[in-house]
Amino acid sequence: MSDKVLIPGEYVGPGEVYEESSSTHLEGDDIYASTVGVANESEGKFNAKADKPPIKPGEIVYGSVLLVMDSFAIVLISPPEKNGKIPAAPPEGKIPVRAMSSGFTPSTRDAIRVGDIIRAKVVKIEGEKAELSMVDPNLGVIKAFCSQCREPLDKTSKGLVCKNGHRERREIANDYRAYGKIML
Ligand SMILES: [Zn+2]
Repeated sequence: MSDKVLIPGEYVGPGEVYEESSSTHLEGDDIYASTVGVANESEGKFNAKADKPPIKPGEIVYGSVLLVMDSFAIVLISPPEKNGKIPAAPPEGKIPVRAMSSGFTPSTRDAIRVGDIIRAKVVKIEGEKAELSMVDPNLGVIKAFCSQCREPLDKTSKGLVCKNGHRERREIANDYRAYGKIML
């Protein structure tokens, strides 16, 4: 009997076969997965997958900005799916203000704001967090939203402007809103 990899919400098996755990939930008499994990019928267990997302220093990652403080920002990294494995929990990345631009950034909020989509390079992994850098013309914000009205900001000759005319600053990547063939 081979192990089955399941994603959250998938049916694991009947409650009389599987033990409940923090990785599962019970619906009626049946056990369902709450995390990505492996169901082992012979042991009667569903184990959360220990695999960490395949993120290494030097890799380019995408993420959305969760929090912006005076000296750093926290980003939720969208981990690449590799070999069909879905990471159990996307890690967070931290971008120090000095890694937001190759020039001087007077304020983190001139570079990045909550909800922006960014492309960054992994500098190092520290525990559950990756330290990220946007210092490269190809790195930075690839889609930003107006902090006043939440409309996307367009790149214009006057800088980034939303359809309601609000103008804001960001450290944008050179392909802002034109990533590959996809218009963001
Ligand atoms: Zn606006």
